Amino acid sequence: MSPTRLIVFGRQGAGKGTQCLRLAAHYGIPHISTGDMLREAVAEGTELGLQAKVLMDAGDLVPDDVMEGIVIERLAKPDAQPGWLLDGFPRTLGQVEAMLRHLGEGFVDLAVNLDVPVEVVTERMVARGRADDTEEGIRRRLELYEEQTAPLLSWFRAKDLLVEVDGVGTEDEVFERLVKVVDAALEA
Ligand code: ADP
Repeated sequence: MSPTRLIVFGRQGAGKGTQCLRLAAHYGIPHISTGDMLREAVAEGTELGLQAKVLMDAGDLVPDDVMEGIVIERLAKPDAQPGWLLDGFPRTLGQVEAMLRHLGEGFVDLAVNLDVPVEVVTERMVARGRADDTEEGIRRRLELYEEQTAPLLSWFRAKDLLVEVDGVGTEDEVFERLVKVVDAALEA
């Protein structure tokens, strides 16, 4: 099988984590979530975890150079050679540039934007009540997403690497939509 390298974008609360897990299982590739990796580091109390915790609690981003190190190392592991699904990275233009620098042009097969409107994701996040889901944290993360991550969509769209999927619906409905769109794009 040819490698499948996918990047999934979506506002916080878009259900991205759940759909990414299912997609990765479906395509038989590792689900690489930078949020999960950072939360693990926090739980283990590593140096990275201590540094990341303060930023995550405030809804701020971990610096690009730190993220670059973590992700490039992860993508070099054997299980990621047949492909991977990145969830939560890249989040800034600097992180896209880091991928280009390390992996070269053509570093990804497809980027997917799981689209759920701001009002809907805000409601969902308030309801789930994760530790960093304070009102201020949510506002700050959505703001950062619009400022820093939304422009990446244009970057991938300009390279004809972006597909959009409506993320409103039941978990199964959205998953079916995702697979259909991804399959069609990968075959094209
Ligand atoms: P959410 O989608 O709710 O923001 P994530 O699990 O993707 O959740 O990320 C949680 C936090 O981890 C982010 O708010 C940010 O502080 C940090 N983080 C995750 N990925 C990155 C990244 N690529 N660059 C910088 N910070 C990141």
